[in-house]
Amino acid sequence: MLSIRSVLGWQLSLRRSKWLPLQCLCYSSSAAAVEAERTVREGPRNDWTKPQIKSIYDSPVLDLLFHGAQVHRHAHNFREVQQCTLLSIKTGGCSEDCSYCPQSSRYDTGLKAQKLMNKDAVIQAAQKAKEAGSTRFCMGAAWRDTIGRKTNFNNIIEYVKEIREMGMEVCCTLGMLEKQQALELKKAGLTAYNHNLDTSREYYPNIITTRSYDERLETLKHVREAGINVCSGGIIGLGEAEEDRVGLLHTLATLPTHPESVPINALLAVKGTPLQDQKPVEVWEMVRMIATARIVMPKAMVRLSAGRVRFSIPEQALCFLAGANSIFTGEKLLTTPNNDFDADQLMFKILGLTPKAPSFSEDEKSASEAENCEEAVSSSVGNSSYSLVGLPPFSPSGNRFNTKIEKSMNKFSSSETVGSGSRFKAIWDSQSVETFCDLCIKEVELGHRPKTHFTKEGWDNLIKNFSKATGREYNKIQLKNRWDTLKMIGSCGEILLERKPA
Ligand code: SF4
Repeated sequence: MLSIRSVLGWQLSLRRSKWLPLQCLCYSSSAAAVEAERTVREGPRNDWTKPQIKSIYDSPVLDLLFHGAQVHRHAHNFREVQQCTLLSIKTGGCSEDCSYCPQSSRYDTGLKAQKLMNKDAVIQAAQKAKEAGSTRFCMGAAWRDTIGRKTNFNNIIEYVKEIREMGMEVCCTLGMLEKQQALELKKAGLTAYNHNLDTSREYYPNIITTRSYDERLETLKHVREAGINVCSGGIIGLGEAEEDRVGLLHTLATLPTHPESVPINALLAVKGTPLQDQKPVEVWEMVRMIATARIVMPKAMVRLSAGRVRFSIPEQALCFLAGANSIFTGEKLLTTPNNDFDADQLMFKILGLTPKAPSFSEDEKSASEAENCEEAVSSSVGNSSYSLVGLPPFSPSGNRFNTKIEKSMNKFSSSETVGSGSRFKAIWDSQSVETFCDLCIKEVELGHRPKTHFTKEGWDNLIKNFSKATGREYNKIQLKNRWDTLKMIGSCGEILLERKPA
């Protein structure tokens, strides 16, 4: 078996001999590899074409999974998974005809229509969710819209305020929203509004006829304009073609701003609905959707949503690896079954996942991150022999640090909390990665990685020597994250080396 040292050494010798650029360490030229590398280099973009997304989606599944994971690790803390609890606060009796939904009054599913839950019951459920580790509480009501439901809407505004005061993020899914209602929800403290597009524009009329695709997009516009985070995704397994899955992702990825959350649901066919005989979605279909969503919308929280209950822990692990970083917890997802709480706790433990803390004011957070980023960059510039010209251009203008907004957009480099809560970004350009690889190899050769981990002396040397070589004072967590990514690439190299000895 080849060691990581020999693999890294082999990769570097290839690079030095100009056989491979750094980015080609993945040994693949699939569309997933090419577009993931571009996403890492350039950041989120909104000019995707359908053929581009289709070619990512069609890449060999393990390659797609690998590159989804790469983008995921660049854009997020890969161990963090957000836990959201979804409660149906008004169940059944909906006038819409969504073919998958047991809450539609048009289908005989045995579901009894109920009135809006009272405040005590909702707050109690939110409290229970919080105690179970959930950081976002989502309230769903089976309505076409909230027009003409003034009393109920005002009650929901009160629920939002109270749950927000409990220190949780709050999300609602109440059907179509008017602009004024979105503004009122924002004022009450709503974090996000969920309104799924469900499927592609082309396939949509096969699933819903009572409201149009454009009406859905209009609601998303009102939500966005009110300053509420957008949560919008879709469902697979509705009988759609792969082109429709790509079409859904294309619509989401070409919105002026990507949704902050993208739920990917697998249909749970319910008896009595028109889709009751659909065959279950396979995990590979979920992996394709999740990894493609991750590559084309790198900053979004990609949510492994309905249908998760059918997947084992190893299958869910593949979904997290592909780029999912959010789940629904709780006994039910509106009206369909969900994973058991204890089973989720066990899964977190086995997979080494940690619950994501809530984040409240994106505006404030972005501004503060931008300031910290600016400090980190100027300190790097001041001490470094490297220029920032080699760093991935992030803004359309190419001048990454031109404005505060552009700075706040640069959430793409790995970011870790250091010291007493201060944050700065680790920025990895090809030159600093190469330097880091050289230093790692040196430490391995010095015997400072006797087994699978660097010794304390090894890490101390890496921190000191990396700072000396680049002027960038990264801490152990930041360097270790990069090392883990390189190890992942190294593992790929090992497999290929076994197949085709150099
Ligand atoms: S998905 Fe929502 S809008 Fe459609 S029928 Fe169900 S509750 Fe009504």
